[in-house]
Amino acid sequence: KAPQAFEVKELGGTPEQEAYMRDIIEQFTVDTNYLNQIRDRFIKEMDKGLEKNGATLAMIPSYVEGRKEEGHFLALDLGGTNLRVVLVTLLGEGKFKTVSSKSRVSDELKIGPMRNLCDYIAECVDTFLTEQGLEDQETELNLGYTFSFPVLQSKINRGILSTWTKGFACTGAAGKDPVLLLQDALLRKHVPVKVSALVNDTVGTLLSNAYNKPDTLAGLILGTGANGAYIEKMSNIKKWKGGKTTSDEMIINMEFGAFDNERKILPLTRFDNKLDRESINPHSQIYEKMISGMYLGEISRNVLTDMIDRELLLKRDEHTSIAWSKDISRHWSFETAFMSNIEADNSKDFTNTKEILDTNLNLHDITTTEAKFIKKICELVGKRAARLAAASIAAIVEHTGVAEKGCDIGIDGSLYEFYPSFEARMYEALEEMLPEIKDLHNTIRLGLARDGSGVGAALTACVAARMEGGK
Ligand code: BGC
Ligand code: MG
Repeated sequence: KAPQAFEVKELGGTPEQEAYMRDIIEQFTVDTNYLNQIRDRFIKEMDKGLEKNGATLAMIPSYVEGRKEEGHFLALDLGGTNLRVVLVTLLGEGKFKTVSSKSRVSDELKIGPMRNLCDYIAECVDTFLTEQGLEDQETELNLGYTFSFPVLQSKINRGILSTWTKGFACTGAAGKDPVLLLQDALLRKHVPVKVSALVNDTVGTLLSNAYNKPDTLAGLILGTGANGAYIEKMSNIKKWKGGKTTSDEMIINMEFGAFDNERKILPLTRFDNKLDRESINPHSQIYEKMISGMYLGEISRNVLTDMIDRELLLKRDEHTSIAWSKDISRHWSFETAFMSNIEADNSKDFTNTKEILDTNLNLHDITTTEAKFIKKICELVGKRAARLAAASIAAIVEHTGVAEKGCDIGIDGSLYEFYPSFEARMYEALEEMLPEIKDLHNTIRLGLARDGSGVGAALTACVAARMEGGK
């Protein structure tokens, strides 16, 4: 294919390197036609998930119906890289204030007993309340718990964790209610807080976006993990058994990270298969593994190490090669954040790229040609992720039929916020998949939903508190 050959020539490698790159480019390129097929399948899977439980796209009713609110609420955000406690003051009219504290969840806590994790969370909440001078409340504070894992909800503050994702694997949690486990820990520590709502981060993102953009249709997370939620008509939720609702719409947590776990359509490469096999949740979250921040660096690393093994990259004398490849040979050592910075490097001789590889991976004296190859690989993996992620949006837009009327889509997460051109690449793919929409940027309005997890959870806690008060 002529255009590809041209791009490869531009990199200026040996004939062997060029041949390799041509093949890699082919493998990582998802053209319009392919994207359309993915989107169509996505729409079918959405329908299956709305029809019955146990489908690949879980399409979980969130029990969240209401929207605009006021007051002080706590939110707790667990699920990505950090644990955050947030005090949200909803000021009405789409305005809010937040104060928050952030702490890292250690790898030990992520895979240890759930009780330890909950104790740790309760302690963080306790410390935060003391810092904010809220420890001696007369009435307990309502807390919205953003728990960003697949939870089958049975009420606004009840649900069952179906499975862990994103590197978490605490024992004694799957099949249990994360709200009860946390509430117990809060009681053990006498923290005056009531967990009144359980929210997926995508649902929170949708809600916080809708707080000031009433035409919001969906909320997406494109960060450590990936998922989406959107507003569905009750009449379309065929599997609904929750009885009469006050609204004729409900937010659906799609759990789309699991899309195509059957591997029927996604363009999986051997690099993706390697990542999946070596992950702690093989055969699960296949789509998430191609589009989210936890995994993109590792996919790139798989390509880089393959090139090294074939002596197409970092070829030095034997001794240095072994010393060099030590860090890049380590699982997860090539972070998605490096890709971000490498893709942003537009200097002529790739100074930043060389520096990143030098300081983080002990790869000294990278040549400019090598840096070009590495950048190209990051670009292929990053671009594929953005295009595949866009297929979910095209599916939601088509399924809900909002193409004419237009809508807002709130997105949160490090990839969307910081990865260079991620949004532009999504728009490009959307333009290809939705050619009938003329002014796409002003019709399907993607936008950063800052702190969706915090504000959205607080909004839900507020709705829940009001529902409980019988108001
Ligand atoms: C989880 C979702 C979550 C997403 C983004 C996925 O791994 O299954 O529940 O919304 O990550 O945080
Ligand atoms: Mg998050």
